[in-house]
Amino acid sequence: MSHSVLPTRRGDISLPQFVPDATRAVVRGLPTGALPRTGVETILVSTAHLMSQPGTSVVRALGGVHGFMGWTGPVISDSGGFQAFSLLTGQKGLATVSDAGLSYRFSPKQRFRDLTPKSCIETQLHLGADVVYCLDYCTHPLAPDAEQEKSVALTIRWAAECRAVFDRLVADTPVEQRPKLFAVVQGGQRADLRARCADALVDLGFDGYGFGGYPVAAGQLVAEVELTARLLPPGSVLHGLGIGTPESLVAAWRSGYTIFDCTLPTRNARRGVLYTSMDTANLDGDGRVSRIARMSDEKWVRAPGPVDPDCDCELCTGYSAGYLAHLFRVEDSLAHTLASAHNLRFYTRLTAALRGHPAGALPRAVR
Ligand SMILES: [Zn+2]
Repeated sequence: MSHSVLPTRRGDISLPQFVPDATRAVVRGLPTGALPRTGVETILVSTAHLMSQPGTSVVRALGGVHGFMGWTGPVISDSGGFQAFSLLTGQKGLATVSDAGLSYRFSPKQRFRDLTPKSCIETQLHLGADVVYCLDYCTHPLAPDAEQEKSVALTIRWAAECRAVFDRLVADTPVEQRPKLFAVVQGGQRADLRARCADALVDLGFDGYGFGGYPVAAGQLVAEVELTARLLPPGSVLHGLGIGTPESLVAAWRSGYTIFDCTLPTRNARRGVLYTSMDTANLDGDGRVSRIARMSDEKWVRAPGPVDPDCDCELCTGYSAGYLAHLFRVEDSLAHTLASAHNLRFYTRLTAALRGHPAGALPRAVR
């Protein structure tokens, strides 16, 4: 698989690409200026969260996501559909769905916000995202057939409406200055519904396609991830939404996915769980490509060397593992910053290795 790019108005996204989740316009634990040194080129923000806090108009008034958080690279915004689905299946009274769209709030004290195809696209354009998602209706993989059928019908209908709204709003914008528009393939575990959804979305025509639903069950990628990739035309840009562990990422890449986003590396970093010992010899197989170092383990307290001698991140080039173990024990926020920088660097080194594969080129240093 050769190294390709997704061109956007704020530069090319090298593929494959790992995109950290800046859910609330912050990659937790890291100043925006520290991101380029980790090799991160693109970030993903949550439309539902930013609509709710600080509100679309505030972000817009402060220069969109880019001006707001001081980021100059490409930004992907999600549709908010997954967030609304999570609220729909959680505490009662936080979300509703109708043919017109989704309504959600994060707590009973908040007012409801509406995600319709129109408001979903308008909001993402106001946020200034460079890759924009059509509204979709996510389901639990074990939801009844009627619910899966409703999800696919609404996802197709909303995608058509989003396509029309988007085309109208960017009509006066030069093509190279327009965001890219992606759509999500739903269908749960039903292969026929996945195919129906993929076919309809391809007919509408999008710049890329995301995998909808839970991509992982019991620590393994679900079969629908690969199935969905096969349903889309060769050469499509495929986004493994919410993928995942290093091993899941590599497995999805082998199925044809080239964009990945997940909160895992930064969430694990804040818990003192670091990825180390990248094994690029396993990129073709099902073996492990990473190991886990837990800073709570006593063995790190007197460790004089870096957490990962092969890593060129700020942590590994500047500090011993023993020092990081100390920062976690005294609960200093620098522990989260350094560990997050390291885990993101692990993921960007991994995707860089995939870009070079199978030619054998190892990760380019990003400085
Ligand atoms: Zn490192």
